[in-house]
Amino acid sequence: MELRLTEIFHSLQGESRSVGRPTVFVRLTGCPQRCVWCDTEYAFQGGSRRTLTDILAEVASHGAHYVTVTGGEPLAQPNCLPLLTQLCDAGYDVSLETGGAMDLAGVDPRVSVVMDLKAPDSGEMHNNRLGNIELLKASDQVKFVLASRRDYDWARMQLDQHQLAERVSDVLFSPVWGQLPPAQLAQWILEDRLPVRFQLQLHKLLWEDARGR
Ligand code: SF4
Repeated sequence: MELRLTEIFHSLQGESRSVGRPTVFVRLTGCPQRCVWCDTEYAFQGGSRRTLTDILAEVASHGAHYVTVTGGEPLAQPNCLPLLTQLCDAGYDVSLETGGAMDLAGVDPRVSVVMDLKAPDSGEMHNNRLGNIELLKASDQVKFVLASRRDYDWARMQLDQHQLAERVSDVLFSPVWGQLPPAQLAQWILEDRLPVRFQLQLHKLLWEDARGR
């Protein structure tokens, strides 16, 4: 059983409620979406074919307890599902970062899902798979990456319409790096008393988005 893999690396978790936690990242190759502000375009193609056994061995070599499977869009490869299950079976605390366009139905329930809902300025809003919202667990998270006031207003509407704050453990609002000033987003969240978690991408603050960190 194989997967196309861009990289495996050990770093600090840069986002979500686990921010700052030492983590092994498994970045799978390929994504059917094209968000205009995507910061991992290098994972769209290339990579190398690796067996699940090989991937699990490399993850183990880093000696961390927490593993994040990301991309690209990891769920675009069907063998992502057995990878997630095998990581859980091996005793890791596993999270999955997914763009929100692929079906969550087969994801192992032990996995903590961090699912994006793409806002209008991403250019990918039409691909949001809203049926996934029903599949989210109380331990999962929903992430909005916001480029403008228009995006913010849309995200606020989704929060309300789908009662996301009651449905999942955290709703994350994150500004597009270099586009929406973080202090502006923070101000809007405070003014509106939104039950969300503001986040900045820690890896960009620490390492200016260097690849593999
Ligand atoms: S879904 Fe993720 S990897 Fe794919 S284009 Fe959007 S931001 Fe990039």
